[in-house]
Amino acid sequence: MKIFTKVTELQSYLNPFISNSKSIGFAPTMGALHEGHLSLIEESKKSNELTVCSIFVNPTQFNDPKDFEKYPISIEQDIALLATKNCDVLFLPNVTEMYPNGTQKSKFYDLGFIETVLDGAYRPGHFQGVCQVVERLLEIVQPNNLYLGQKDYQQCMVIQKLIALMNWTNKINLKICATLREKDGLAMSSRNLRLSIDERKQANAIHKCFISIKEKIKKGELNDLLLINESFLIENGFRKIDYLTIAKADTLQSINNWDGQQKIVLLAAAFIGEVRLIDNMLLN
Ligand code: AMP
Repeated sequence: MKIFTKVTELQSYLNPFISNSKSIGFAPTMGALHEGHLSLIEESKKSNELTVCSIFVNPTQFNDPKDFEKYPISIEQDIALLATKNCDVLFLPNVTEMYPNGTQKSKFYDLGFIETVLDGAYRPGHFQGVCQVVERLLEIVQPNNLYLGQKDYQQCMVIQKLIALMNWTNKINLKICATLREKDGLAMSSRNLRLSIDERKQANAIHKCFISIKEKIKKGELNDLLLINESFLIENGFRKIDYLTIAKADTLQSINNWDGQQKIVLLAAAFIGEVRLIDNMLLN
C-alpha cells in the first residue's frame, strides 16, 4: 500500500489513473478503523482499479472541542488493517496540508432543509465542516465511486447534495454501504472505543429499541411508540437523547402519522456517559 501525506505527491500518483480513465474508488475516514470502515474498502476493491482511503480527523466538523480532543487515533493499527484488505493508497494529510489557507470556513454550502434537522440542528456547523473537507478530498482524489456508510444516514444525504452543488453528479457515483454491527447489534463506531465496560454493555439499547419499533410500528400515530422507547433508552443507561425520530427516508422530514406506505427511516442520537452515539434503520 502506498502512503501519501502530501497532496501534490498523491496527485502525481493518481494522474496517470485519471488520464487513462481507470476507475478510482474512494473511502474517506477519520481513522480508528473497524470492520465497518474496512467493508467500504472491500466494496471498492470489487469494482475499481484503484482504491484510495483517507484518514483525516477533520477539526472543522467538530462542534464540540472535547469530542475532537478525545477522538481516538490508532494510525499504526489502521495501516496494518488497510494492508490486510489490499487497499492501494492511503492518504494521510495533516491539517496544514488539507487547509493551507487556514481552517476558517470561507464558503457556505447551501444544503437546505437537511441541514436544519437532526444532527444539523444538534451539531451547528457540523455539516458545513463535513462539506468543506469532503469537497477538498474529492477535488484531490477525483474518484469515480465514493463509498460511504449508511451508519451516517444524514451525512450520506449531505454529501449527495454537496456533489450536486459541485456539479459532479455525472462524475461521481455514491455507493452507500450497509451498517456493520457488533454481535449484540451495536453499530460499529470509532467512538465505541471511548465507552467504559459498563457503558459498552448498555450501548446496544439503541439497537434493541430499533428492533422493537420495527416490530411494533403500524400505520397511524407514532408518538406513543417513540415515547415508550425514549424511556427504554433512559432506563437502560442513556443519559440524554438528542433525538429518536421517524422521518421520510428521502427527505428526513419527521412524520408523526404514518400512512403505512411512505418509505421511512428511524434515526437516533443519544449520549451514554460522555459519548454521543448515532444509529438508524430503514423501517420498510
Ligand atoms: P468515520 O471515520 O466515522 O468518519 O467514518 C468513515 C466512513 O465509514 C463513513 O462513510 C461512515 O459512514 C462509514 N462507517 C462508519 N461506521 C460504519 C459501520 N458501522 N458500518 C459501515 N460503515 C461505517
